[in-house]
Amino acid sequence: MLSRRIGIDLGTANVLVSVGKRGIIINEPSVVAVSTIDNKVMAVGVEAKEMLGKTPDTIVASRPLKDGVIADYRITEAMIRYFINKTAGSFRLFRPEVMISVPAGVTSTERRAVVDATMQAGAKATYIIKEPLAAAIGADIPIANPAGNMIIDIGGGTSEVAVISLGGIVTANSVRVGGNKIDAAIREFIRRKYGLAIGDRTAEEIKIKIGSALSLENVPTMEIRGRDIIAGLPRIITINGNEITEAIKDELDQIIAAVKAVLVKTPPELSSDVIDQGMVLSGGGALLNNLDKLLTKATGVPCYVADNPLFCVAKGTYIALENLDDYKRSLGES
Ligand code: ADP
Ligand code: MG
Repeated sequence: MLSRRIGIDLGTANVLVSVGKRGIIINEPSVVAVSTIDNKVMAVGVEAKEMLGKTPDTIVASRPLKDGVIADYRITEAMIRYFINKTAGSFRLFRPEVMISVPAGVTSTERRAVVDATMQAGAKATYIIKEPLAAAIGADIPIANPAGNMIIDIGGGTSEVAVISLGGIVTANSVRVGGNKIDAAIREFIRRKYGLAIGDRTAEEIKIKIGSALSLENVPTMEIRGRDIIAGLPRIITINGNEITEAIKDELDQIIAAVKAVLVKTPPELSSDVIDQGMVLSGGGALLNNLDKLLTKATGVPCYVADNPLFCVAKGTYIALENLDDYKRSLGES
């Protein structure tokens, strides 16, 4: 029988859709292209991202989720509808049950907006799961145990830190710093130091290829192309990884501060569990080279990167949906 249950990781950078045992079947950027003439949605996901920076004046490609919350309700709904249709296309006779993740810090109004958008987009029932909880489930952390477990999920727009025990979030903190601000810091650094303008995609590429949270002895280098901000002409420079470490230090410090703030607020019994078991990193930001080592160094608590960190939240949404009775208590009111 076809699955009628859909898990959606509604991220600021990527939307991942999963169905039951088939796992993740859609992984596309959370981008929507809209016509400025009649406000019509032109494209969603991969197709819309390809339009970014290349659109005529009459089309704008935008990210409907800013800093992890809905910045544009109508476009978010269109995006959710597109992904549900794409998934449910073959079994459209059924209205699917949907489990959708939201940042832990959302207000009840924002939570309501996600539920409404999902119902409007054709769901039969909508369940909301907080991102850190979904990330922990997806990272195989035994969240139901009476022991403190810390998860740090670093996405495009936000970093969410939470200590979970007995199936619920005990302490949490969220900062609006993630991969996007790290990219912006790299862009700004290169502009200031070399007078070279580069695009968002180039900045992200630099981060992934040579970025590191700690400076390295064996420093990688990279040739980058940009536009000279004075002459306006294309220019090529070579930069090294340690320059990037310096460029992104402030952003990483903000993430460290968020982690420390949660540790400080965590009851002693649970924080001693966290010290024993370590903290787990998920989300695409977890892949930044040496971020685990930097966090270990800064907090004195061992830090580990989850397996497939980009997929943890998505995995958590469908595990929770497939085992709704076990997790219902953790989901709270919706
Ligand atoms: P969201 O949940 O907000 O959609 P994701 O968990 O999908 O975000 O992570 C996206 C972020 O992860 C982007 O900022 C991207 O640049 C970053 N990212 C992806 N791969 C890497 C990598 N190898 N190193 C550093 N950052 C990465
Ligand atoms: Mg995410």
